[in-house]
Amino acid sequence: MRNHCGESVLRIATVLPTKLVMKQAIISRLIGLLIIALSSAVFADAGTRNQEIAQCTEAELVTWGDGQDRPTSASSLIFFYKHSGAPPWFQEHQVMNLLARASAEWSKCGIPAQVTLWQGKVENTKGIIVVQWDAAGSGGHFGLANLSLNQLSLGVQAFNLLNQRNPTHNALDTLQMVLAHEMGHFYGMLAHSRRCVDVLSYYNDGKGGQCYSRDPSQLKLYPEYRSTLPTACDIQRCRILNRMQ
Ligand SMILES: [Zn+2]
Repeated sequence: MRNHCGESVLRIATVLPTKLVMKQAIISRLIGLLIIALSSAVFADAGTRNQEIAQCTEAELVTWGDGQDRPTSASSLIFFYKHSGAPPWFQEHQVMNLLARASAEWSKCGIPAQVTLWQGKVENTKGIIVVQWDAAGSGGHFGLANLSLNQLSLGVQAFNLLNQRNPTHNALDTLQMVLAHEMGHFYGMLAHSRRCVDVLSYYNDGKGGQCYSRDPSQLKLYPEYRSTLPTACDIQRCRILNRMQ
């Protein structure tokens, strides 16, 4: 079982299972949008977005129905990080810090997660996940969760392209979002959230459907509206799914 969502950053809607062909061309075009957005120096009111990150109503727990959620069978998760092959502008300790932040937030779901450095070999079993830089494994995306192989693959090509197109962008923000998004799939959430701000969201379904926001006029004010870490709705959905309520 694979869950692909590499373009889930930079206003790049997460690729639907039927939309695997969205790759570099779309990445290029949408990175262009990011450059425009950043260069326009928009200063948005952070109020609505921050509220949406912190609060969740039952009515907002809506997904696109693009995957079948199921509880994780592991009582805890351990992410082993393998730094080899990473872009040179990401230091090992930086990526570890991002992983630690994401796992600390996801642990609020009620299933503890920890992060440790790759030790050379790990058992391929439930709850033990290898986070690696793997061009093939990422399928050309920023990130891809493979729940069958227990691998979270990061795409060096996508980050290279981002760096070429916009070297002043803080790529750590993008990496934080990708890691938190992909981690969410290992908590059993295979469907993507329809709420724009959720880290597990995608913005549209490619068929005219748009994501939900309390104030859609805010969306265009941000180069990236999606949160870099799990929101209240991401956590709530995880808790309900894993019967932690
Ligand atoms: Zn995804």
